Amino acid sequence: MKLHEYQSKELLAKFGVPVPSGDVTSDPAEARSIAERLGGKVVVKAQVLMGGRGKAGGVKLFDNAADAANFTKDLIGKRLVSIQNPAGMIVDKVLVAEIVDIAKEFYVAVLLDRSAQKLLVMLSAEGGMEIEEVAEKHPDAIVKLLVDPAWGLADFELRKAVKDANIPKEAQSQMVSMIKRLVRAYVESDAEMIEINPCAFTPDGKLIAADAKVSIDDNALFRHKEYAGTTSDSAEHPIEAEAVKRGIAYVHLGGDIGIMGNGAGLVMQSLDEISSAGGRPANFLDVGGGAQAERVQDCVELVMMDPHVKGLFINIFGGITRCDEVAKGVLKAFDELDVKIPVVARIEGTAAEEGRALLAGSRIVPAATVQEAAKKIVELARG
Ligand code: GDP
Ligand code: MN
Repeated sequence: MKLHEYQSKELLAKFGVPVPSGDVTSDPAEARSIAERLGGKVVVKAQVLMGGRGKAGGVKLFDNAADAANFTKDLIGKRLVSIQNPAGMIVDKVLVAEIVDIAKEFYVAVLLDRSAQKLLVMLSAEGGMEIEEVAEKHPDAIVKLLVDPAWGLADFELRKAVKDANIPKEAQSQMVSMIKRLVRAYVESDAEMIEINPCAFTPDGKLIAADAKVSIDDNALFRHKEYAGTTSDSAEHPIEAEAVKRGIAYVHLGGDIGIMGNGAGLVMQSLDEISSAGGRPANFLDVGGGAQAERVQDCVELVMMDPHVKGLFINIFGGITRCDEVAKGVLKAFDELDVKIPVVARIEGTAAEEGRALLAGSRIVPAATVQEAAKKIVELARG
């Protein structure tokens, strides 16, 4: 789950990371009073979970509260579009924060290096711009430090990394303690990623997180009940928000072949087979184990909410899930939704015979193997 900037900063502040003071709101009048409380000089920042927010016009500095309130009024309800997110996102909240005086901008992040099975700290004195751009133009400017989860970080390693990254001398000890706090925050809040860009160094010599992105491992959300009510708020696509409400694992992928399967592995395989057959998956959707007819219907509905879907691929391997239950759900969904696009189903496993018998005579095209099914649906969706 990706946290909004204001949530990320609240979380990091609990671990002693310096962040600018500020508050979140959807109301221009309240934005004005927050700005007044902060002395009038504020930055107003759209709380949308997309890259390139600043360039999209979602971040602006003001020297008085009235202008900050006007900008808030313009921004709320507006769709921001960036290169990273061409579909854009609608702004429903802004963060009004004190302006940080920036002398230098650094980049610091904590991630997971799965192949090394360690945490990865990334550090660069070239902050401000997108890290992908730094990686491309000045790869040497990024210092990477692996952190053993059992041993943690030794001070000497950290001091060396900070020097190697060309962090100026007067900022080095603050950066060392910043990284320690970020690593602690990462481990203790079950984060998947923490990114501070820019990590600002002020003219009077203070290091402070001017922007912050934290994402929490979804599998650990049960340990972080404070975010329970806001998960759909953090969805990156409206259908994903709806999926969270329905308790369905759905990821929007942007292609035109809708996909529904049971078990994450089987769905991943379905995505690969569709790609190999020359198609582009519209989504990932895991129906889950032991799915009853209503849930299957719920899932079909969700996939069909995407107007780009031109064909539906159903890939079910019945273990706990009974294929006849799946078939009933699919048929019921089709009755109620009046689905006009082609559908191919590969159904195998527990009660597969019964399931296929139920589908016989319907408009659902059966296929014997996953490969055959993928080929068929890509062809039918094109025709
Ligand atoms: P992003 O585009 O979503 O990464 O948004 P950021 O919060 O990083 O803001 C984009 C840019 O706006 C930053 O790189 C800074 O150059 C500038 N900016 C943001 N907040 C402040 C601030 O408090 N003071 C100053 N001087 N510039 C800021
Ligand atoms: Mn940023």
